[in-house]
Amino acid sequence: MVSQKRCRSSHGVLLLAVALLLVGSAARAQEQAQRWWKGNLHTHTLWSDGDDYPEVVLDWYKSRGYHFVAISDHNILNDGTKWVHPDQSVGDVPRRRFERYRERFGDDWVEVEVSSGVRAVRLKTFSEYRKLFDEPGVFLTIQAEEITDEFGEAALHINATNTVEFIPPQGGMSVVEVLMRNIDAVYEQRERTGQPMFAHLNHPNFRWSITLEEFVAVENEMFFEVYNGHPGVYNDGGIQAPAMDVFWDHALTERLRSGGKVLWGLAVDDAHHYGEPSVARINPGRGWVMVRAEELTAAALIEALEAGDFYSTTGVELEGVERSGDELRVRIVPEVGVAYTTEFFGSRRDGPAGEVLAAVAGTDVRYTLEGDELYVRARVTSSKEKVNGYRAGELERAWTQPLIVE
Ligand SMILES: [Zn+2]
Ligand SMILES: [Zn+2]
Repeated sequence: MVSQKRCRSSHGVLLLAVALLLVGSAARAQEQAQRWWKGNLHTHTLWSDGDDYPEVVLDWYKSRGYHFVAISDHNILNDGTKWVHPDQSVGDVPRRRFERYRERFGDDWVEVEVSSGVRAVRLKTFSEYRKLFDEPGVFLTIQAEEITDEFGEAALHINATNTVEFIPPQGGMSVVEVLMRNIDAVYEQRERTGQPMFAHLNHPNFRWSITLEEFVAVENEMFFEVYNGHPGVYNDGGIQAPAMDVFWDHALTERLRSGGKVLWGLAVDDAHHYGEPSVARINPGRGWVMVRAEELTAAALIEALEAGDFYSTTGVELEGVERSGDELRVRIVPEVGVAYTTEFFGSRRDGPAGEVLAAVAGTDVRYTLEGDELYVRARVTSSKEKVNGYRAGELERAWTQPLIVE
């Protein structure tokens, strides 16, 4: 009997070992199939108040190793007919931009009409220009819109990414209602069309438009901008309102305590100006997301974003982020001569919102849950100053998405 038992149990151990090996290799295969895709989800062109042609904008990103860009102009899709007039605009910037555009893309592509010596240039539509750039597994252009609404003095902007139809600003009777109605409009379109798309709340501190209390009261968004490259957005807070990290922790804590949605944090450019880099301008290259997905399609990217399988960054590159079991592990790609500090932010069940639970130096760091946390997330700050950041003296950073305690 005893030996039979032993035999059975050693059989069991063997089966367990084989099963674990299979699970392990399946997980490894899945990890190998997945990779990081670099993208910017907030971009302007001449279709609204950006200062360059969409092709020049996309060329900027693609030639710098980005894999996807969402073109999100104010209250317009890049669709229909729109002409710009480089000769009639103030200053010589529009003329120089036009000459650069023509040199780069050629007379066969660029569409100009001259009337009494004045040039009109037709802007290419989304479906036209994307053909120049999109390549499977290399680059993807995504249609988007910055739904640009207001309430009193407050500028209330919601990005809608991968939409099919234009969404007009929805209005409302309060800051919170305007934001929520615009977010709802995106998900209504998703529901109706079946196209994967998502809304994200833009730059809460732009013109100090959204208070912390209002932000926490907006319950229906899943994403917001923890970093925006516009020099007027006060990512790090000020006298009127706290930093975006504080907004994030307060909203997350409130939601997790009341059984609400998770909230993920995006870094974006909000680029408007494609000329000489300057801290006073809204240049590209300031904030982006790295999304871990199997393929470069809008559906796969959105699925990964909604699962929180991405990180946001202004320059710090991560080799891995593992949010599993009771541990959040962050592996940083080291740069010579650069030091990294990772702060683990979280809230305890009965504690204040957003404590620094730990601060750790190094390039392979982890936080193990103690048992009473609602979530933990990591923010890595580098000792390296960001080149042409949204403000002077900015240090490069990366933000992981929170590990939510079930
Ligand atoms: Zn905006
Ligand atoms: Zn914008």
